[in-house]
Amino acid sequence: MSDVPILQETTRSTGREALRNNITAAMALAGAVRTTLGPLGQDKLLLDDEGRTMVTNDGVTVLESAKVEHPVAKMLINTSTTQDRIARDGTTSAVLFAAELLQNAWELVLQGVHPSAIGRGYRLAEATCREHFQNLTLDASKELQHRATHTSLAGKIHANMQNRLAGLALEAASAVLMEGPNGPVADPTRVKILTQTGGGMEQSHLVTGLVLAKKRVSDGMPKHLKAGKVALIDGGLERREMMSDVTLNVTGTGVLESFREKEYAMLLEQVKHIKSLGITLLACKEGIDDDMHQALSDAGIQTYRRVARSDLDLLARGTGATLSLNIRGLHSSDLGAFISSKNERWNGVMHWIVETEEGGATFIAQGSTNEVVGEVERCFADALGVACQLLEEPLLLPGGGATQIALARHLRRHAETIPGREQLAVEAFADALEVIPRVLAENAGLDPLDTLLQVVAKQSNHDGELAHCIGLDVVARRPANMVEQGVLEPLRITRQALAGATEAALSVLRIDDVLWAKQDAAIPEGVLDED
Ligand code: ADP
Ligand code: MG
Repeated sequence: MSDVPILQETTRSTGREALRNNITAAMALAGAVRTTLGPLGQDKLLLDDEGRTMVTNDGVTVLESAKVEHPVAKMLINTSTTQDRIARDGTTSAVLFAAELLQNAWELVLQGVHPSAIGRGYRLAEATCREHFQNLTLDASKELQHRATHTSLAGKIHANMQNRLAGLALEAASAVLMEGPNGPVADPTRVKILTQTGGGMEQSHLVTGLVLAKKRVSDGMPKHLKAGKVALIDGGLERREMMSDVTLNVTGTGVLESFREKEYAMLLEQVKHIKSLGITLLACKEGIDDDMHQALSDAGIQTYRRVARSDLDLLARGTGATLSLNIRGLHSSDLGAFISSKNERWNGVMHWIVETEEGGATFIAQGSTNEVVGEVERCFADALGVACQLLEEPLLLPGGGATQIALARHLRRHAETIPGREQLAVEAFADALEVIPRVLAENAGLDPLDTLLQVVAKQSNHDGELAHCIGLDVVARRPANMVEQGVLEPLRITRQALAGATEAALSVLRIDDVLWAKQDAAIPEGVLDED
């Protein structure tokens, strides 16, 4: 308990003790995902509060579902969430690397190096790696893009599906590729994923355009529309609900009827307005009164109600339409365009398929059970993220720890030129990079140290330009040229993992005082090892 009055209800740890506690928390968190790294990584069985289970070997999924109290553990979880948001992959690697940077920093602190000198060294090392990337990258041809997308799925799903999903993810990414002000942009959120239980997972496929499991409100409406104008309404075409404190003063027969007729006439006015704007396709977020169906059918308008807001947003992006609050305020400038809009029955369920100028695609995830469909959906989303990155920045790095080893070798050579204690930190950074090949070896049942030394020796003895491509092929269980093996990763993933992990480690190193409002900081728990 602190002797400063304001801090009386807090637990406090300062200086070295704070740092040691924080690093223990980081290592414990990294320990929770360590065994999932690489294609031979183990799965984790996650249980939530309601007893639902999920089997995954995805780092960020494991971490985000862990109930963690410790602020430093939370910082590392943020690193993995940011990694997932920016790069869509590399989440386990980022956390392992951050924890290793901290562990190595602790050893230096014990030798008397001040955390701020370590921080400076780490920054310098990260900048040196960033510069060196240009000597390690290779251009991503179509074939290599496929290989890299495939690598991101290694160990996550059945091998045949990896290949198929990688191809579909690249196809979907191309469908949403656009020229932006700062170069090409492929936004994965423009690809819709529709899940269907029943059938094998290999029946999962991609459809051009946006597909919704919806049926037009009435069979009398056109089933198939050729190019036309579309309106998207953030409301509905309904009679307004009576407010509870409204009293309708019925003074004679026919008052109620005339009130209803007026209401009906107002709705009809809206249908007229839609027709006058030349709209043939209408989608509303809310309901459409039953007696409006006929009027809309007569006007030849294909109409959908209760369309989810997220789907309306996708339609808006594809058609160029602006969402209007209601029909009365609808203006011709709010309208969008479509190429075709049709209803088709798939496996007994009606689907609405819209094709637009701005492309867009829908992935239909299929599988025999909800769990299988969920797995296909998650894997596709991951592969899509990687594919989109690759189309935006088509540069690759060799995987299997090759790049980390090459960077570490470069850093060690560079460290010799740095005077002062920062040199030690640069070397510690290089050692930390090697956590990736070490853990890959560990998870393949190989001796981590011997394997690492073998790969390092192979890179050093290789006199060709491609020395940095030699990494650990965990399937063949030996060092190999990762480009030839097709184990490749987008530059953006590795670069972000390095930057994010360094940033997290630096933040932790800057802390020398931890105040707890409550007693005792629990080390993360709540993650169950399946093995
Ligand atoms: P992350 O969450 O960091 O992406 P993964 O479990 O997806 O973790 O593992 C990614 C690592 O596995 C990368 O370093 C990648 O190069 C490596 N990897 C993938 N396939 C192979 C392979 N066949 N041989 C060796 N390493 C591989
Ligand atoms: Mg991965």
